[in-house]
Amino acid sequence: MISPVLPTYNRAPLSFVKGEGSWLTTESGERYLDLGAGIAVNALGHANPALVAALTEQAGQLWHVSNLYQIPQQQKLAELLVENTFADTVFFTNSGTEAAELAIKMARKYWYDKGQPERIEILTFGGAFHGRSTGAIAAAGSEKMTKGFGPLMPGFKTLPFGDHDALRAALTDKTAAVMVEPIQGEGGIRVLPDACLKGLRDLCDQTGALMILDEVQCGMGRSGRLFAHEWSGVTPDIMMVAKGIGGGFPLGAVLATENAASGMVAGTHGSTYGGNPLGCAVGVAVMSAVSDPAFLAEVNRKSALFRQGLEGLVASHPQVFEAVRGAGLILGLKCVVPNTDVVKAAYGQNLLTVPAADNVLRLLPALNIEDADIAEALARLDRAAASLSQPAG
Ligand SMILES: *Cc1c(COP(=O)(O)O)cnc(C)c1O
Repeated sequence: MISPVLPTYNRAPLSFVKGEGSWLTTESGERYLDLGAGIAVNALGHANPALVAALTEQAGQLWHVSNLYQIPQQQKLAELLVENTFADTVFFTNSGTEAAELAIKMARKYWYDKGQPERIEILTFGGAFHGRSTGAIAAAGSEKMTKGFGPLMPGFKTLPFGDHDALRAALTDKTAAVMVEPIQGEGGIRVLPDACLKGLRDLCDQTGALMILDEVQCGMGRSGRLFAHEWSGVTPDIMMVAKGIGGGFPLGAVLATENAASGMVAGTHGSTYGGNPLGCAVGVAVMSAVSDPAFLAEVNRKSALFRQGLEGLVASHPQVFEAVRGAGLILGLKCVVPNTDVVKAAYGQNLLTVPAADNVLRLLPALNIEDADIAEALARLDRAAASLSQPAG
């Protein structure tokens, strides 16, 4: 018999009732160290006092009003994002998937309004993840996500990850945009080298194609810069953001230049909840914390500390771990044994990690994880690895 909750997830038999910083407590009172942070969502840890205050204060005033009216919290968050990024304008969504949908619509509308309605094609890369809507699965193109859900939305072409020559060959007068994650999350913490991002920008400039970056997972300070593309010095035309931006409150956004957004006039897009007062009040608190250069410097310092320890684990457990990947606090351990075995062994040490494609163990702690918790996480990973390299029996 089917469960009351649609069984689309492989859930661990764990149920948490309370969170504080990087720690979660189960129903039975057991404590777990959280290196998943709700898959890069709880950017400031669980029950962060500043976020609790922002949420409860707003909840006592006004939860929701329609986008038929002015929403000052939304205005404020948009201004913060515009001040701190390449963008001139922002649309708020409730999720990353919805941000992907708007990015696709925006790129197509741009060319339609330019009198080139045939420019509808969007190029994406192998291993990409852009969400689970019919458009977003067509964009990522992997059989695992698309099988059985056809016919897929036409107009997407998936290229090998980081293959500049393939990109050059695929860019035609039908190309509306190129969509890419500067650091693939679900795809296995694969960092697109700066040179690739620069090359991609050059090709977009030469052909006019819009550059769409998906920073849903790697954005909002996770890479050690506010947005991961800042490391390369190039800027996109359109960017998708979600996950960390709400710190646990469902919130997403599409950021764009005035030029790229020029087709999106009144009536062309909308969302009932997108940008509502509750979500944006929390978003303002998250942005205020994460955009502070001192905060980002701390992310980088913690990253170096964590990475050093992880390199040590690779050296001491070569039969379990192969290499460290990533940037900032979006880190991955390429595994020798199946990554799901490592996730299970980590559960055994009361440590939460997340598997990713390419047999990688994902480590996405709260960006303000304490140094002592990093040390504790490394000790627990060490014990988990030791339990796996024990001869069977
Ligand atoms: C999680 C994710 C999405 C989808 O976001 P949802 O909020 O789950 O819809 C899109 N792109 C990337 C890179 C993601 O990591």
